[in-house]
Amino acid sequence: ELSFGTPVRHIAVVGAGYVGGPTAAVIALHNPHIRVEVLDKDQRRVRRWNSPHLPIHESSLIDIVRVTRDGASLSSRDNSNVPTDRLPNLFFTTDSQASLAKADMVMMAVNTPTKTFGIGAGRATNMTTFDAAVKEVALYARPGTIIVEKSTVPCGTAQRVRQMLDAVRPGTPFEILSNPEFLSEGSAVRNLLHPDRVLIGSAKTPSGRRAADALASVYAAWVPRSRILEVDAWSSELAKLVSNAMLAQRISSINSISAICDRTGADVDEIARSAGLDPRIGPQFLKAGLGFGGSCFRKDIASLTYLAESLGLPEVAHYWSQVNSMNDWQRDRFAHKVIHRMEENLVGKKIAILGFAFKKNTGDTRESLAVDVIRVLLQERPGEIAIFDPCCLSEDIMRELEPVLDANNRERVHVYTDAYQACEQANAVVVVNDSDPFKQAPGRKLGKSNSKNASTEQQPFETNDMAKEIHIDGSRFSYHPTQ
Ligand code: NAD
Repeated sequence: ELSFGTPVRHIAVVGAGYVGGPTAAVIALHNPHIRVEVLDKDQRRVRRWNSPHLPIHESSLIDIVRVTRDGASLSSRDNSNVPTDRLPNLFFTTDSQASLAKADMVMMAVNTPTKTFGIGAGRATNMTTFDAAVKEVALYARPGTIIVEKSTVPCGTAQRVRQMLDAVRPGTPFEILSNPEFLSEGSAVRNLLHPDRVLIGSAKTPSGRRAADALASVYAAWVPRSRILEVDAWSSELAKLVSNAMLAQRISSINSISAICDRTGADVDEIARSAGLDPRIGPQFLKAGLGFGGSCFRKDIASLTYLAESLGLPEVAHYWSQVNSMNDWQRDRFAHKVIHRMEENLVGKKIAILGFAFKKNTGDTRESLAVDVIRVLLQERPGEIAIFDPCCLSEDIMRELEPVLDANNRERVHVYTDAYQACEQANAVVVVNDSDPFKQAPGRKLGKSNSKNASTEQQPFETNDMAKEIHIDGSRFSYHPTQ
């Protein structure tokens, strides 16, 4: 039996996704004496983690995986203080039973989406996947294992996990910690290597504190102690929701101002710059655009709203739900702005969509901003919607679009791996996300996609030459339809 204070030797990470994979890689990099095994049920994903083509597009991730998974030497500047002569200590596997049985710490990094049906649909978190993973841990983990919530979960989950473990393995000592992840896709490795803070929530008992210290010592291999905060589990769980809610709130706030700008002729970028120069406000997350997409902000606000509702705080619930409502409205407003700019007539016209991932520098298409825009545009019967995003796989794009496609419009949507072809003879070029290649407008240079993730080669290209008519740049949102 393990005791919660002993040094960690073997970590199992459940879920080889956007959080589990990079987190495991960075922990393994800085703790060469710890064996880190990442488990996933998805065989294809595990195969890709074990191949040269990782399933996730994140800068420098492959360098770290080469060192930790393959024992190769490190080339990245960022990690030059890490010894290069080492044995592999990062493994990806589907054999959860074997890994869980060896682990003295298990990090839960499985997906926790919003419920789509039943009580709390659209607001509450769907914990089915998380709970199923906890049950597996309960069955196979050794007594004394420390279980860490890395997934974003509703407040009170640590307590609920304890009850689930007690039900499956009565009397077996397990310690549950909350350790939410604050990484941002597109800069995941940088965020993990240099976190602003690491939050560890535990039960305020001697064994809870010992478990928190054991996890803190894993992070202390590279994170300054002053950035590792030890708090209670509820505060840790809630702090994660609050961080995302406040970031999303800034986006909705500036987007609401962009609507006023459109009516008055004021320039929202100038206003954001001016407001952001006030150090009490700051410039981050003040860029007007299509709004926020992705798998986190919307669901975390929904979860906060649901929590407030269930605590009998309807005014608080209403306040936060407006952040999501404003986001929906802005996206719809943008789509109609495109239609307006095209003189309310899209019939037979070609529209190029640049950028499909929910934001720049990631291949993640979940909750893509483009889907709703394309849904509205398709109702106007355009000749073709031509999509280009050098970071995304075309199968991911088509899967995300599936709900808005039917027999009548399916033939009109195409994914291009070449920016030239996507924009050639287009009547409108709609820039949906702020990916670096789309940034400089007009006459921007675009990259060519290589059919795997991510392009590095830049093929100079001017959309003005290729498109017949207009650019509509939602990632900047600084043009005025009346001008
Ligand atoms: P993801 O969907 O990319 O990865 C989750 C993985 O878990 C999937 O590969 C899935 O196959 C696997 N899985 C599910 N059940 C399993 C089981 N029983 N055993 C083994 N594997 C299992 O999700 P993600 O984006 O990495 O998010 C994970 C959690 O982290 C979520 O709670 C999310 O809210 C939170 N989070 C995400 C981000 C982000 O930017 N993506 C940032 C911070 C926090």
